[in-house]
Amino acid sequence: MRTLKVRTLKKRQSGRTRRELPAAKFRRALTALLFFALAACTEPEPPDYGAVFDGSAGRWIDLTHAFGPSTVYWPTDTAGFQLEELAYGPTEGGWFYSSYAFSSAEHGGTHLDAPIHFAEGRLTTDEIPLSGLIGPAAVVDVTEQVHPDYLVTVDDLTAWEAVHGPLPDGGILLLRTGWAERWDDPTAYLGTDEVGPDAVAQLHFPGFSPDAAGWLAAERGIVAVGIDTPSIDYGRSADFAAHVALYSENIAGFENVANLDLLPQAGAYVVALPMKIEGGSGGPLRIVAFVPSG
Ligand SMILES: [Zn+2]
Repeated sequence: MRTLKVRTLKKRQSGRTRRELPAAKFRRALTALLFFALAACTEPEPPDYGAVFDGSAGRWIDLTHAFGPSTVYWPTDTAGFQLEELAYGPTEGGWFYSSYAFSSAEHGGTHLDAPIHFAEGRLTTDEIPLSGLIGPAAVVDVTEQVHPDYLVTVDDLTAWEAVHGPLPDGGILLLRTGWAERWDDPTAYLGTDEVGPDAVAQLHFPGFSPDAAGWLAAERGIVAVGIDTPSIDYGRSADFAAHVALYSENIAGFENVANLDLLPQAGAYVVALPMKIEGGSGGPLRIVAFVPSG
């Protein structure tokens, strides 16, 4: 009788255990799920940086004009870009071999202006840190109101801020005037077909007003400015006041920038890597931008 009771109890317990097992599993699964959900909330997954570099997270845009015989230089620089062939063809050893020597002024084509270009004692080309060449882009588009003697105003810059927020600290301001479309027509691009010292007074293209440059240098934390014309000062400038204002604050310049029409006004990132010329005042520049998708 007693034995039977025990068996019955065990059977009941066993039965109860079997019936409760799915519920216990469910509770454990729920607990684990909540734990992982909480962990996911408190520890976000690290960004997929690889997706930036394989292009799956967005597009890379080349903002650089190629260097060649038609590259635009300042009117006083008549040598332009020189590419001298040293070798081209099959060798006695059986392999193909080509090699060139090139020469160029620092300030022609798509190029860097290091701050020392217009500000004594400021950074030379090799001294600019990577943080001064890489950063979020703010693309200010003045193509609607531009003309060949246009000066970009503080209002043009604050109009951008009214839509996108303050110009980003550590950011790179790119000024789109639409002049890059004239690149293949140097007379239209420069405003003159003359060359030599007298031609400088004939230049016509838009640029930063001294006020806008001074405001950027004093009031904002950008590290560089870029423009799709030959100079950050407009063609009519006789004192290069925008150069002086910005470079005195170690804010670098990128000139003759291409393809700004392919960038959004905000959300892109710039990587601008010049030739690292020791003690240089500028240099040929390869500048690209990453535009995140979505
Ligand atoms: Zn320059």
